[in-house]
Amino acid sequence: MNFQGILPAASYPLVIWVRMPRDNRFWFPISCLLPRIMLENLFNFRKYDYSKLVFMLDNHNRAINYLRVSVTDRCNLRCIYCMPKEGLSLIGHKDILSYEEILRIVNVAVKTGIVKVRLTGGEPLVRRSLVDFIYSLKKIDGLKDITLTTNGILLERFSEKLFQAGIRRINVSLDSLNAQKYRNITRGGDLSKVIRGIKKADSIGFSPIKINVVTMKGFNDDEILDFAKLTMKKPYQIRFIEYMPIGDAASGNGFDYLSNDVVMERIHSFVPIEPVNGHIGKTDGPARIYKMRGAVGEIGLISAMSHEFCESCNRLRLTADGHLRACLLSDDELDLKTPLREGCSDSELEDLIKEAIRNKPGRANIDCYETQRKKCVRNMSSIGG
Ligand code: SAM
Ligand code: SF4
Repeated sequence: MNFQGILPAASYPLVIWVRMPRDNRFWFPISCLLPRIMLENLFNFRKYDYSKLVFMLDNHNRAINYLRVSVTDRCNLRCIYCMPKEGLSLIGHKDILSYEEILRIVNVAVKTGIVKVRLTGGEPLVRRSLVDFIYSLKKIDGLKDITLTTNGILLERFSEKLFQAGIRRINVSLDSLNAQKYRNITRGGDLSKVIRGIKKADSIGFSPIKINVVTMKGFNDDEILDFAKLTMKKPYQIRFIEYMPIGDAASGNGFDYLSNDVVMERIHSFVPIEPVNGHIGKTDGPARIYKMRGAVGEIGLISAMSHEFCESCNRLRLTADGHLRACLLSDDELDLKTPLREGCSDSELEDLIKEAIRNKPGRANIDCYETQRKKCVRNMSSIGG
């Protein structure tokens, strides 16, 4: 369903309503113009530049405007729940989308209403020439926001270049503040590099810096408060992410899911925690946002398992090997790489993206948690988290 005609028309009465009390002189000319403008919009008499207003609804009336792009399935870490121990990429070089191919897909996706792209992976910073690629992405008309999720290992080295390329908002994944535990969960990662990366990003001016913590019973549930306390002095947003049954995480690796309700209780028992923006509460994508009393930063809760947020899901995922995945917890994917390499036109590509949007599942298949591995067989590293 495309609202190109109706949305601008519907917005005029609002504009007039806002202006009226301030200056009555506007009322007469505008009231004369209104019916004409509305008719023009509804029947498309005149051509407007709608590029900033286009958006597409899926079959469940959700506006889909956010694309997560996995630029590689390779990684310099091997997190136990995300990447197989051997760590080797299962996707051959020629099967990974080239930057040119990704740019073409994003260009077309913007025409369907995508306004925000998050670069992820695997580890995006291990892919060569990522910064040059970001400069090219920035040139896409209509793309308003480019963000990045990283494990932070290479952040110190890349912070400045990323900032110069126009990235302002980053997410850094960090599951433990204890060097040995961090080494264990990442199978060899060096915590001090991540900390230096975050400090550098902070000093350069990235804002907000969001720190993703996947909470696992028996691994880091004893660190919830330590993470939360970081927000007292720093404007970070600490995001507690419920452990999801994806790929290797569904295969029983000794760690267990922990509900964000428990996370809330733990923090609240230390210091009162309140929803940002009062009772309605601020949301940030799927995250519900809270603040500890007296804190500078925020706490985000991403509770895919305990508090389903499918109703407000606005995203698509492009896998490193060129498949569009409309739901993280469903293995249904639409192959874009094959038609792309067989020379499809932009409008054919656009039709495929629209098909993926339309067919986005209304609800995630949380049942795959029970059936273990029956669904969600890909690891996060190849889907893009
Ligand atoms: N390498 C980058 C990183 O670690 O931030 C980007 C890719 S990683 C797949 C993106 C996010 O997915 C990370 O925050 C990671 O912790 C999260 N993730 C991976 N597997 C997960 C799982 N089974 N449940 C919840 N989050 C998961
Ligand atoms: Fe790599 Fe990120 Fe997966 Fe860890 S979570 S293995 S850092 S892709």
